[in-house]
Amino acid sequence: MKPFIPEVVIVEHGSETSPIYNNLRRSLGQVPFKFVDDVAAIEGKGLVVGDRFGAAKKKLYLAKHKGEFFKKCPGSEGQVCCNYFVINFASNCPMDCSYCYLQEYLADNSALKVFSNVGDLIKEADQVLSKHRGMFFRVGTGEITDSLALEPYTGMVGELMPYFVQQPNMLLELKTKSDCVDSLLKFDPKGRVVVSWSMNPQRVIDWDETDTACFSERLSAARRCQEAGYRLGFHFDPMIEYPGWEADYESMLEEVFSTIDWRKLSWLSLGVLRNTPGLKRAMRERFPRTQLLTGEQVLCPDGKLRYFQPLRVEMYRKMVGWIRRATPTVKIYLCMESKEVWQQVFGFAPNCEKELGNEMAPGVEATWP
Ligand code: SF4
Repeated sequence: MKPFIPEVVIVEHGSETSPIYNNLRRSLGQVPFKFVDDVAAIEGKGLVVGDRFGAAKKKLYLAKHKGEFFKKCPGSEGQVCCNYFVINFASNCPMDCSYCYLQEYLADNSALKVFSNVGDLIKEADQVLSKHRGMFFRVGTGEITDSLALEPYTGMVGELMPYFVQQPNMLLELKTKSDCVDSLLKFDPKGRVVVSWSMNPQRVIDWDETDTACFSERLSAARRCQEAGYRLGFHFDPMIEYPGWEADYESMLEEVFSTIDWRKLSWLSLGVLRNTPGLKRAMRERFPRTQLLTGEQVLCPDGKLRYFQPLRVEMYRKMVGWIRRATPTVKIYLCMESKEVWQQVFGFAPNCEKELGNEMAPGVEATWP
């Protein structure tokens, strides 16, 4: 995976006392550091007229986060939700996938930013977790950034791990397309951390996942985490349909399950390519040659474009069949899909988000096929 070397690190005054600042200084010593009073006043200023989103990925900001860190995942209207919570410790991502929804979601605030107030993050998480000890929280950090791509520079996850591995009612998911796992290997995850990878065949990675770790790097990082005692997850998402997709996805699954012990898997998810008219506009401007703009899609009730339902069901059924050959009982769920699609793929649909969320809790046996 290509190292991330920003053109500049822009630090908001007050963030110099953060451990993240010291980590950045140590790891990016060759990069100029600039200090400002208020990053909000300069974010996005001076960007090129052309690819503003791409240019934003080249400057790294370090500033205090002034809003909430801990939130319920917004999900997608009308789709089965998996009762997931998110902690946002950074915004935007140094990698550059053509289909990345952040191109639309962060269009007006695209600065690549890491938050320096780690203490506030832990304090807020502690208030929520200790107030609701009877509830179980599945929490991810990869909603508006990649959980691990910046880890060799910020050391953020390494700062948070000692707190999170002690929490009895929370499972932390670190979701990534990188292979940046070194800082995790020294911790005992105590069964409370799942490291998960978004996986696609190498052909799709080459076409549409710029600057990410290649398939074999992701798989070997997963193997290292498994050996260090971590539970693993894989998200086969977004699945892309193209001539010959079946052979590529089937052999990708064979390789995954011949490398990883499926009994150490916490879950697998499946999802097809989703976008919106706004995201398609951004993709057309930034990745005019991507083939993802050419396939037919239909507008679904949640405002997202997806492949026709019969094609989605066929893709999911094939994937479930290939997965079940290797892993008879691992938990599989569909990401952002309707109850009708669940019914057709699994013969049932969860009644509510709580049911699906509970099903994913550690130690709970899967109750669906
Ligand atoms: S790795 Fe994830 S967050 Fe980063 S560009 Fe790709 S899709 Fe977006």
